[in-house]
Amino acid sequence: MQSWSSTPVPRVAGQPRPLRLFDTATGEVRPTAPGPTAGMYVCGITPYDATHLGHAATYLAFDLVHRVWLDNGHEVHYVQNVTDVDDPLLERAARDQDDWVVLAMRETALFREDMVALRVLPPRQFIGAVEAIPEIVESIAKLIAAGVAYRVDDPEYPDVYFDKDATGRFGYESNYSTETMLGFFAERGGDPDRAGKRHPLDALLWRMARPGEPSWPSELGEGRPGWHIECSAIALNRLGSGFDVQGGGSDLIFPHHEYSAAHAEAQTGEHPFARHYVHSGMIGLDGEKMSKSRGNLVFVSKLRAEKVDPGAIRLALFAGHYRSDRAYTDELLAGAKQRLATWRRAAALPAAQSAEATVARLRDHLGDDLDTPSALAALDAWAAEALSTGGTEQSAPTLFRAAVDSLLGVEL
Ligand code: ZN
Repeated sequence: MQSWSSTPVPRVAGQPRPLRLFDTATGEVRPTAPGPTAGMYVCGITPYDATHLGHAATYLAFDLVHRVWLDNGHEVHYVQNVTDVDDPLLERAARDQDDWVVLAMRETALFREDMVALRVLPPRQFIGAVEAIPEIVESIAKLIAAGVAYRVDDPEYPDVYFDKDATGRFGYESNYSTETMLGFFAERGGDPDRAGKRHPLDALLWRMARPGEPSWPSELGEGRPGWHIECSAIALNRLGSGFDVQGGGSDLIFPHHEYSAAHAEAQTGEHPFARHYVHSGMIGLDGEKMSKSRGNLVFVSKLRAEKVDPGAIRLALFAGHYRSDRAYTDELLAGAKQRLATWRRAAALPAAQSAEATVARLRDHLGDDLDTPSALAALDAWAAEALSTGGTEQSAPTLFRAAVDSLLGVEL
């Protein structure tokens, strides 16, 4: 699938800081330790609706990971998928009497536009589930051959399921209790009550064709893939085992990332699938999580249509820490617009006090598990001083502007 266009990332003078990130699996902030090329996989959208601020917050958090690694001189091999065939997409298309292919293409195109507007650096590989079906089938066939996948006892629809205990490590990524897992599994697209499964938590790998549903011929029989094996195969085939960061929203901790890891590890015998599992918090509106089911969504495209500066959207979402569940409010956006205007005035000064220590603080805070609230405060302090007492260093406003552009992705 076509990715989107990139924006240049200026080099910033001074000493970069390595990136430490919270890892859900070990429950601690640990250094990332990429080689010359850092590998990152972030789960993409299911394109049945436009990008809302909850999505934007996730892709912006991982955009910061991308930028901090670039600052440290790494190449970044970033892979993202698009779940362009799955139940929610088919249900929405049926509801709206839309063609599911057209719906997916339209929403994916809008997502790309939103990402470009928000200056999110593009993935090197942007892969649709449909185009990845042959490799997904290959993965499932390996799991069947290894004896860790089986067909349910259903002559009409002998779907293929994954034995959750295949690796002996199931649960290491989320650290959830079985009770919590069962709750989330039922809530987030799982099918604990499907007859013929060996365990309620076994996950779907291949769904045999049903009348009226899209399907593809394969050695497994005509059908379509489950969701977790899609990301598992796409990531494994491009980044290999033990890549640096597997990312997504915190609602992907379980079941999605637990199974993606288990599917991959059961195929390769290697552990871990990813060295860090990194999750961003949920964005709420009026005291509730922003979600499609609640209908309380603020779309990036709507803010763009209202001529809201994308830099202000970035700053609004960076005002809170990426891991915390936080609220989006009109006041938050108004504050971000004001901050952006202040920074722009400071960056436009002919001279100011030195910005070197401020840029060092920005790098320190971002390197410390993407502590954007502290990073923004450090930049605020510099801008306030520049606009009040100021200074005579002519290169300072330029350095400030370059650092904000390179590390926060905000154009001043
Ligand atoms: Zn995924």
